Amino acid sequence: MKKNIGRLGENQYDLVIVGGGIHGAVLTLAAAKAGYRVALLEKDDFGHSTSANSLKIIHGGIRYLQHGDFKRMRESIASRRSMMAFAPHLVKPLACLMPTYGHGIKGREMMRLAFAVYDLVAFDRNRAIPPENRLPGGTAISAEEVKWVVPGIKENGLTGGAIWYDAIAGNTERLVLEYVLEAARYGADVANYAEVTAVEKDGARVSGVLVRDMSTDRTIRVKSRAVVNAAGPWLERLAGDRLPRAGNWATAINVVVKKRLFRKYAVGLEGYTDFTDRDALIKRGKRLFFFVPWQENYTMIGTTYKPYRGAVDDFSLQRQDIQEVIDDINKIYPAAGLTMGDVTFCHGGLLPMTEADENQADSVQLDKSSQIIADGSAHGTNGLFSIKGVKYTTAPDIAEKMVKLLQDENHLGQRTPGSYTAASPQRLDHGPTIKQLGREYPEIKAHLKRHYGARWRAVFAVLVQNGGAKNGESYWLSEEPPLLAAEVLYFIHEEMASTLADVVFRRSSLGSAECPDTSTLALLADFMGRELSWTGEERERQIAGVLQVFAPLYEKGGT
Ligand SMILES: Cc1cc2nc3c(=O)[nH]c(=O)nc-3n(C[C@H](O)[C@H](O)[C@H](O)COP(=O)(O)OP(=O)(O)OC[C@H]3O[C@@H](n4cnc5c(N)ncnc54)[C@H](O)[C@@H]3O)c2cc1C
Repeated sequence: MKKNIGRLGENQYDLVIVGGGIHGAVLTLAAAKAGYRVALLEKDDFGHSTSANSLKIIHGGIRYLQHGDFKRMRESIASRRSMMAFAPHLVKPLACLMPTYGHGIKGREMMRLAFAVYDLVAFDRNRAIPPENRLPGGTAISAEEVKWVVPGIKENGLTGGAIWYDAIAGNTERLVLEYVLEAARYGADVANYAEVTAVEKDGARVSGVLVRDMSTDRTIRVKSRAVVNAAGPWLERLAGDRLPRAGNWATAINVVVKKRLFRKYAVGLEGYTDFTDRDALIKRGKRLFFFVPWQENYTMIGTTYKPYRGAVDDFSLQRQDIQEVIDDINKIYPAAGLTMGDVTFCHGGLLPMTEADENQADSVQLDKSSQIIADGSAHGTNGLFSIKGVKYTTAPDIAEKMVKLLQDENHLGQRTPGSYTAASPQRLDHGPTIKQLGREYPEIKAHLKRHYGARWRAVFAVLVQNGGAKNGESYWLSEEPPLLAAEVLYFIHEEMASTLADVVFRRSSLGSAECPDTSTLALLADFMGRELSWTGEERERQIAGVLQVFAPLYEKGGT
């Protein structure tokens, strides 16, 4: 996958997609597979924004039982299945526990009934899923077992626990990238650090976009018959304020702590403030907080919401925001006893909300479903569409609907699928390198398979082509989390990584849970600097860019 700005200026596209978050990425693949000539343009790096900031749960929509919304449940189940089938190495089963209290609406019997209904609705949840990733049906455990899983849980009225299975994308950033890579293999032209500054029209009809290549500051015109605006919180920039509920965004925050709080399961615990889900038929009266075990040693906890009234570009998490989340968690589960010193990372993003009462603590009502807003109705322009996405999980469902809409004769019409499929990569003789790697080979292979799934051979080919790609005497740039020198070459030359942050946060897992140590950062910056001809000043700027992400955690006064 190569960035080729020149080619973007030469081609006539059927479709330009603005925004390389999960919605833009999944749609690019779906449209390319459907035979359209597609370009994906991302102003920063793929998956850097809201899509990197999720709790990483790929929801099967069990919560929509409360709403009696079977249509939304089926959409979530199909989307979850689609992601699990697309990237089985990244999207894995997640066993979840909800403690039950009494015998009413929050009781064990009610939960068992709910899960039985859910399992019926989700009868086809494992279709085309590899056996090791299949999701079992819901079940129940005793109060004693719940106390073992959640030590220190409120025991008064505890009757047991309901267990259900969802999925988790261990690395949401890489999952976005996997869709982009696969779309490029299907012939899509993709570019990061390429900002769409305007949608151009010929009369009332879209004719293309203006794109600023951020690496050269050059602006080019890209011709296209249709444009899909999947710009996340920047949606209104190109669509204007004619979208429904323009300017209504909520901050959503999670924290990552270096502690395994609970055994065996992800656990949902009720918040302590009142919350009314306006659309629910069965109202639980509180929002649920999820404690998700992540990687070997961490727990991700969230999500809290509050209205956001600032400019989108000004959004950043402050130390105070994180402290508020910690305080909330300690009230919900006092046994956690969290302090700022336990927090190693935080996720924050903006999501579309319907309404919020500024005078009430937990009042944000998020938009219930992701939406496609078609041309003419909201934009007054033919060929311009917007995707307002509220869930990472349902991006495949939205992409499928978007492609169906484009296939309508009034828009792009049908194409022959697979028209632009790229050539297969050349075959290499891996034998000599395997011999050279000796005892390290199985370890390297296992690491690459875990991280890249079926694509692992492409990364291994970089080892082969570069005679083992070494950092001094070692193949590894970092042993924990593992990162090979060859992977970094692959990121730069095949995955469009051009900054240290691209590699640390979105290509590898180096900085996904906590700040990498300074010696690893320095080693990586030196390695990338040699490959990309960074000056000493540029190297420092790149390191500062990574450290900046952790700044709210380490401000003065921190523990
Ligand atoms: C704290 C938190 C927890 C969450 N937890 C979950 C969860 O557990 N499960 C779940 O399913 N969902 C979850 N979500 C929701 C989910 O993360 C989002 O709905 C989803 O990631 C939105 O994706 P997107 O592609 O629409 O937007 P984004 O990921 O924001 O992507 C939009 C992209 O457009 C680019 N862009 C903007 N303007 C331009 C332009 N002019 N030119 C080029 N590019 C442009 C941006 O740089 C950005 O990369 C959570 C969200 C948050 C914040």
